[in-house]
Amino acid sequence: MADSAGFESVFDVIVVGGGHAGTEAAVAASRSGATVGLITGSLEQIGQLSCNPAIGGIAKGTVVREIDAMGGIMARATDLASIQFRMLNRGKGPAVWAPRAQCDRGLYRRALRRLVESHPGVMTIQGMVARLLFNDPKGARATDRPGGVGMPIIAGVETAEGRRFGALAVVLTTGTFGRGVMHIGTRTRISAGRAGEGPSLLLGEQLDAIGLETKRFKTGTPPRIDGRSVDFSRFGRQESEIDYFDYSWSHFWHERRVDASGNTRHPQQLPCWTGWLEENGTELIAAHINESAMYGGAISARGPRYCPSVEDKIVKFPDRHRHQLFLEPEGHDTAELYVNGLSTSLPSEVQLEILHSVSGLESARMTRPGYAIEYDYYPPVQLHSSLESRAVSGLFFAGQVNGTTGYEEAGGQGLVAGVNAARKLKERAALVLGRETSYIGVLINDLVTRGVDEPYRLFTSRSEFRLTVRQDNALSRLGPIAASMELLSDDELGLMERRIGEVKRARKLAADTSVSPVTAEPILLAAQSRPIAHAVRAEELARRNDVSLRSLFEAVGVGADLAADAVTNAELEIKYEGYFARERLQASRLAAQGRVTLPSTLAYGEMHTISIEARDKLSRQRPATLAEAAAIPGISPSDLQNLVLELRRWRPVAAGSGSVTN
Ligand code: FAD
Repeated sequence: MADSAGFESVFDVIVVGGGHAGTEAAVAASRSGATVGLITGSLEQIGQLSCNPAIGGIAKGTVVREIDAMGGIMARATDLASIQFRMLNRGKGPAVWAPRAQCDRGLYRRALRRLVESHPGVMTIQGMVARLLFNDPKGARATDRPGGVGMPIIAGVETAEGRRFGALAVVLTTGTFGRGVMHIGTRTRISAGRAGEGPSLLLGEQLDAIGLETKRFKTGTPPRIDGRSVDFSRFGRQESEIDYFDYSWSHFWHERRVDASGNTRHPQQLPCWTGWLEENGTELIAAHINESAMYGGAISARGPRYCPSVEDKIVKFPDRHRHQLFLEPEGHDTAELYVNGLSTSLPSEVQLEILHSVSGLESARMTRPGYAIEYDYYPPVQLHSSLESRAVSGLFFAGQVNGTTGYEEAGGQGLVAGVNAARKLKERAALVLGRETSYIGVLINDLVTRGVDEPYRLFTSRSEFRLTVRQDNALSRLGPIAASMELLSDDELGLMERRIGEVKRARKLAADTSVSPVTAEPILLAAQSRPIAHAVRAEELARRNDVSLRSLFEAVGVGADLAADAVTNAELEIKYEGYFARERLQASRLAAQGRVTLPSTLAYGEMHTISIEARDKLSRQRPATLAEAAAIPGISPSDLQNLVLELRRWRPVAAGSGSVTN
């Protein structure tokens, strides 16, 4: 029965949307002591991976571990659902290694829902939220039209079925659903949040009426095919890496991959397949380019630069006649494959023709066509660093609605918004993660200070602290912050202290252990490192390239009881010790160089040390100073560092007013 305000139930926090931002927000608010109502369009679709069922990747894998360190659930669900694991960037230094796990889509959804519902303070509710409700200073019943003087204060939400729920704070995480329109070719337009699910229409109208600025972005997805119709002999086979690690630190003390009953924790791994879209395929796309929703004029919104459609690739790189494709399994209980690399909004019959042009896919059956989707987002400069709206008290935004793209970016924001929604109610200081602590800190700082002009995704280059902020040390960086925010249970606190303690023990052991020339010889030989003439501390040797601390410990016969992750973490701290101070110095120098002027004649197009995105934006916008350049969305700290160097090189030959100070 409804209370006097017309509410069926009253929560501390309501989260609207059960995607990657919403689930983390609900769990984080609950861990912060709030009662939570998670209201979402379909309970079965909680945690649906809208596009590629893969979690992690460059910078994103670090975010997954950061979310995990703060008590979030993305890493835990990934460990339960992953069917193909790879550590990206292995060819580069271990500081930038990036875990990526392909997941079984159904298993991931079920794992995420189970993890959300394992928090007793969270109630999951099915329904589309149609409007927000606000305190009415004059009456007892909340109103959907905030009027009068002063900032509107949130009071709850109402669903399309007319169910009213009260809350002191609301977190909006409605993803690509805000007035979503799907496009397949120029003639097929379907009002939808994503394939098979309806859009969210009324909420957007209300937010417009309140005066929030709304803009449109677009994104796209490739077709899926029936694996039984593929000739796999024409594809390269890519196995999962055997050396799988757990994403979540919460299992670190277990023996890897095996639980107490001897069962492996991760599902059986499946192969991916690599092939090529050849010239006949690219010609087909070029011939039909005007039938693509994006190139035929049906969509004008901007899409994610770094997840381009195949049409984009062909238009932007006309000299490349072949493009790599990956066939990725969707899960154990289906033969469906995801065709990574073929995101498209061409008509479905053209998509099928393109698929058939690929060697090995001549008889492929298309289970679902690719499509593009346009949706509302709310420029995030309208938010405080806590992710609370500047215009409506108690209303928080997280995920794709803030102009980002990606599950991990959404999850990281969801966690921060959930914590802050709960902390606001207790009048506690907001959780604001610094750029030097985490990629989540970089992400939110970029969003609220610089905004976005295209869908924002994370890269290592967006951080000025790439060596400090790594995937292996997420727990040491953020665990103590999570503890101070009271996000962890007593058990988790104990485990965290033990894990961080193990890193310290590993470091001490490295400093105390002496390695003789004979013991070191095979390790140094394998690493192509010069031999030693007398005994040297393990710490000294571990500073060298390709010399692993774990192999030194094994050779000497110490540290067998230490968790492998802890030893790796200690090794990287030792290897990069010298760089950390330099990284901080560079970051503070860059911050101080804001007044450096940038001559209007600078030839940004020729500056190959800065990213293509930066060259493009600097050429178009021509900022007057380095501070103005820094404020352009998408210009990363590494672009700025390289711009300073380019400017130094440029000055002697050109007559400009640019000056560089240190
Ligand atoms: P979502 O995962 O979209 O979740 C939103 C949730 O809100 C859903 O559960 C929905 O039911 C619910 N909801 C919406 N409106 C309401 C309402 N009014 N009331 C109640 N519940 C509501 N990311 C990439 O990184 N690379 C890509 O190439 C890529 N391609 C994509 C292609 C497509 C077609 C789509 C749809 C997404 C793509 N993404 C891609 C984006 C990725 O899916 C999102 O970044 C991520 O899912 C965002 O998470 P979120 O929690 O913000 O929103």
